[in-house]
Amino acid sequence: MHQTIGVLALQGDFEKHEQMLHQIGVKTIQVRKPHALNECVGLIIPGGESTTLSKLIQLYDLYHPIQSFAKKYVIMGTCAGLILLGTDIDDQRIVPLKLLNISISRNAYGRQIDSFVTYLNLPFIDQTQSNDPFKCIFIRAPQITHVESNVHVIMTNNSQPIMVQSHNILGITFHPELTDDTRIHQFFVDRAFVLNNEINSR
Ligand code: GLN
Repeated sequence: MHQTIGVLALQGDFEKHEQMLHQIGVKTIQVRKPHALNECVGLIIPGGESTTLSKLIQLYDLYHPIQSFAKKYVIMGTCAGLILLGTDIDDQRIVPLKLLNISISRNAYGRQIDSFVTYLNLPFIDQTQSNDPFKCIFIRAPQITHVESNVHVIMTNNSQPIMVQSHNILGITFHPELTDDTRIHQFFVDRAFVLNNEINSR
């Protein structure tokens, strides 16, 4: 199987994620139909507008295919993408995928004008990468208000979880794709390829 990563391309800044993956030499495919998932070993759900994305996921019959995909492969959701991955969201218009056992409050930092940037250390980088702080860009970001015990908090900002992981599902409240720093995408891709190799060697 090709080591291709899918990017959900219904709405939002999916092209930015593709550009990041291309920078690290990874092939991408835009996912708009369920069959596209058959070609991928990982999926990114981008930022955008979670209410719209949720509607489009239903309209394009992607809800159950994404849930099945999550049984085998890695999924990363950023900002609105993270909202969709959660179990409990403070907006009934969103049908959550329930892949990350967390509660989420949308737009919890305030309006567009309350968007902000902060520089934080990445706890998972290896010796071959720079350990400079990462530019974390929050745009009308959600807050993770509760994390169940099967979810690991990877990064926090002012003791608030901003990057969480549950086995093969990674959720980030900010936008790594809007930087020129590929370290988070590399972390995700490494995990995708390792899991895929494990599956193929069974
Ligand atoms: N505020 C958006 C929402 O709740 C998310 C913003 C983003 O993805 N940058 O859907």
